[in-house]
Amino acid sequence: MWLFFVNNYHFDFYRTSGYNSPMSTPARIVVFDTTLRDGEQAPGFSMDVPAKLAVARALDTLGVDILEAGFPIASPADAEAVRQIAGEIKRPVIAALARTRRQDIEEAARSLEPAERSRIHTFLATSDLHLQAKLRMTREECLASAIDAVKLARQFTDDVEFSAEDATRSDREFLCRVIESVIRAGCTTVNLPDTVGYATPDEHRDFFAEIIARVPNADKAIFSAHCHNDLGLAVANSLAAIQGGVRQVECSVNGIGERAGNASLEELVMALRVRSDRLPYDTGINSPALFAASQLLSEVTSEPVQANKAIVGRNSFAHEAGIHQDGVLKDVRTYEIMRPEDVGQSVSSRLVLGRHSGRHAVQSRCEALGFTLSHEEVDQIYRAVISLGEHRKAIADNDLRRIVERVRTPATANGGAPMPQPEAVGYGHGV
Ligand SMILES: [Zn+2]
Repeated sequence: MWLFFVNNYHFDFYRTSGYNSPMSTPARIVVFDTTLRDGEQAPGFSMDVPAKLAVARALDTLGVDILEAGFPIASPADAEAVRQIAGEIKRPVIAALARTRRQDIEEAARSLEPAERSRIHTFLATSDLHLQAKLRMTREECLASAIDAVKLARQFTDDVEFSAEDATRSDREFLCRVIESVIRAGCTTVNLPDTVGYATPDEHRDFFAEIIARVPNADKAIFSAHCHNDLGLAVANSLAAIQGGVRQVECSVNGIGERAGNASLEELVMALRVRSDRLPYDTGINSPALFAASQLLSEVTSEPVQANKAIVGRNSFAHEAGIHQDGVLKDVRTYEIMRPEDVGQSVSSRLVLGRHSGRHAVQSRCEALGFTLSHEEVDQIYRAVISLGEHRKAIADNDLRRIVERVRTPATANGGAPMPQPEAVGYGHGV
């Protein structure tokens, strides 16, 4: 509908503006999606098998590299969901979670049998706090259990991931010993979670850089970050981890996950894409499918996406303030750093008419609806929109049509009362 926006913006705006020198080919980052495991285990986000299958299809469309489908030992329904996803979804690697116990790993392997390509993801805490308070295990027992689990998992698949739970609060020396040992035992991906979302970005970058430098066989495995969002830093920490040498990020659609959630897939992907000048990395994600995946997840879990959520929130490309609307109508780059269609959002919902709107936006919307208006009509319609906006959040197209019709009916246009001249642009916040 709002055709005047099309092709007015490109990702490489900054580059073509001469801000940056040409980049070499960006390094490929593996996207490990845990929407159906870490996300699904959060309160209010549990899904039945058909819902999980629907989300798995959306994740496939999205182009995730690894799809963690569940934790099969947790329940028969979990195991069944993994089995059905492994049977139907063939492009991504299908992963299943398992503790280091034999029965967990065997159940994961059984559930993954129909998969074209499968990964067993086994995990064990390595911090003294978790070992002593939760697992009642010594460090030596932890090390032996991790090695045995990886060796057992390798009997079922040659793609094995080991996660050192609470890695960021683990003794560095011991953590390095565990990592070296599991890689020697056949682990191909080493995931070091910031389980409690405690890290800061610079600390997290240094954490990975130090570990990769210290572990002698680090080059035999891909390092992975799994950041939680307790301080709202999950995406920032994941990006910092990439700068520290990580080549896999674990994330979820809408950032769902335990407590405050995981790193948000859509934010990570778009940060890498929009700021490729500072972050020379890319993913295989089909970004125009982001919004649909987000909406589907919200629908099947009955959990709304917050309006101002980056990338997929309904306000992330919406403008109501008159000064902003005027800027966007003249050149979208004034207030947008990416195009809505690049993440699958609708261009037509961009300008929201309400009490902060400007005359320019009201006129444009009327024209898009097929009305050719005189200067006086625009003034009257603008005033009516502002007035109606006092009573409701947004003015829909049908509201606007009614206003235009009323204004064009002489007897009821304005009752003959003199009207002040409206601001040409409108108000709202400028910064
Ligand atoms: Zn987690």
